[in-house]
Amino acid sequence: MIVQRVVLNSRPGKNGVPVAENFRLEQSTIADTIQVGQARVRTLYLSVDPYMRCRMNEDTGSDYLLPWQLSEVADGGGIGVVEESKHQNLAKGDFVTSFNWPWQTVAILDGSLLQKLDPQLVNGRLSYFLGAAGITGLTALLGIKEKGHVTGGANQTMVVSGAAGACGSLAGQIGRLEGCSRVVGIAGTDEKCSILVQEMGFDAAINYKKGDVARQLRELCPGGVDVYFDNVGGDISDTVISQMNQNSHIILCGQISQYNKDVPYPPPLPPDVEKIQKERNITRERFLVLNYMDKQEASVLQLCQWIQEGKLKVRETVVEGLENIGAAFQSMMEGGNIGKQIVSVSK
Ligand code: NAP
Repeated sequence: MIVQRVVLNSRPGKNGVPVAENFRLEQSTIADTIQVGQARVRTLYLSVDPYMRCRMNEDTGSDYLLPWQLSEVADGGGIGVVEESKHQNLAKGDFVTSFNWPWQTVAILDGSLLQKLDPQLVNGRLSYFLGAAGITGLTALLGIKEKGHVTGGANQTMVVSGAAGACGSLAGQIGRLEGCSRVVGIAGTDEKCSILVQEMGFDAAINYKKGDVARQLRELCPGGVDVYFDNVGGDISDTVISQMNQNSHIILCGQISQYNKDVPYPPPLPPDVEKIQKERNITRERFLVLNYMDKQEASVLQLCQWIQEGKLKVRETVVEGLENIGAAFQSMMEGGNIGKQIVSVSK
């Protein structure tokens, strides 16, 4: 059977900015018959995520991420429908997902590596399983629960950077649901800031590309910052950390502003900021959602319940067509998405 697939065409280099041309669409073939234990699946949705930038390097700098190989099919979070199954737990028509879904229109996969999905849990919005009801939502929820020390009634102020992105837009809302009394987002456009406040219930949002972030933060967080959900690192984080309270907490989710630089993870803070962090006893522990997968099932149910109740507002930026996945990745790394960046592959 002839299929379309997307392979890694070139590496951007450790300090380079990734572009759409780092990927290449090509035709390929898969077997016409499947073996016992396998399923043939048609791809519906693919996820593009910032961590994939590390997979573009020959050395990902991480023990849990394998590099993509040149001229080999890329992979990541994906959702599809079973077209044929020789696996005992899967039947034609089942919706399934995997963390290692090939960027390919149709694929033959090991059935034991596929998880079945129930569309009813997300009001039929299957792609949410790649975002708000998937790893993204889990990252926001478990990051806050495990590292945020949010206590209802404690009058805590949370700041979120990368706030209009996939994790950030959920983190602010979950911070509120978990008990923060004030939530302030930092994002890169006025449109994003307006969505955060009007749709997602943030108290305020700062466009970091305009004006003085430190001054606006002081005005918007007069009692200082108790919880910082950090998606970006760099100058923005240095500014926020400088305004954090004694015994406050950083949720070290990601450092996207540093991903095109050859620096260790997590990148060390500048000496003056590190001094503040130490003097004020601000926690900044590494957080990796994959370390908490024993909490996945219950947490996904919690996220789905909030989605169904309308307590968690979800935004997606959907790009149509496998051939556009490289452009979608480039755009996401440049902040072009609001909420989760998804690629829709076939109807
Ligand atoms: P996302 O949807 O792409 O959101 C990230 C946002 O960051 C972008 O929308 C962009 O918007 C902003 N940004 C990009 N470059 C920036 C820069 N140089 N300076 C400041 N802001 C910048 O990504 P996501 O899926 O939410 O992921 C967010 C972070 O979480 C990433 O660092 C990712 O690696 C991390 N993550 C961690 C885990 C974990 O287990 N720890 C799991 C999943 C994701 P604006 O610039 O317009 O604001």
